[in-house]
Amino acid sequence: MRVLVISDIHANLEALEAVLADAGSWDALWFLGDLVGYGPDPVACIDRLQVLAAVALAGNHDWGVLGRIPLHTFNPAARRVLEWTREQLPPRQIEYLMGLPPQTEREGFTLTHGSPRAPIWEYILDPYTAWENLQALPTRIGLFGHTHVAIAYHAPDREKPRLHILEPRYDEPIDLASGWWLLNPGSVGQPRDGDPRAAYAILDLEAMTWTFRRVPYPIAETQAKMRRLGFPSFLIERLAYGE
Ligand code: ZN
Repeated sequence: MRVLVISDIHANLEALEAVLADAGSWDALWFLGDLVGYGPDPVACIDRLQVLAAVALAGNHDWGVLGRIPLHTFNPAARRVLEWTREQLPPRQIEYLMGLPPQTEREGFTLTHGSPRAPIWEYILDPYTAWENLQALPTRIGLFGHTHVAIAYHAPDREKPRLHILEPRYDEPIDLASGWWLLNPGSVGQPRDGDPRAAYAILDLEAMTWTFRRVPYPIAETQAKMRRLGFPSFLIERLAYGE
């Protein structure tokens, strides 16, 4: 079974379409949360993902739109787009987002938006936080998003504090057969690791491999839509830099 793993679409339809076109054939799509926020196409992205995803999680921005997280906790630029997004979504899409869990298990994998111990809130951005969350992982392998940075953490043995950090080497499968893992495919719609291309991963359940992938998308089209909608320039510009 070939699984397309994506996270943090953030209402970026051009990036989502580029990933879907580039991914080849897959048997299941697992989405790790943050469908909306930041981007100009929340309605189209929800419609597209809803029919394709076998698993979909909610992220903090999705919860922001639903009112489960107060909007004053977001930065002013993010808050403005979340307020706008809330006005765009028809009731059926609000209902869809309300039904998404922030964490679940599938095929022996833990899927979470932020981290296994705090699925909505925690960012796994450093080895210490990764190690602590490897201890909290209910399965041998966990998939997470939220940081918008593609990365793999590998502990050969959970009893011995030794952690490998694997920066993505694109299109080279990583063997997941042994040890404990935390894997982040990166962000489809707003990468923050200095590479503006849309990020995703392919998980092969027979071969037990994980492959980081990257694909360019027409960033200027997305930016033009955001400009027309009067979105904060900070959000428009960052797409070009992947920051
Ligand atoms: Zn996000």
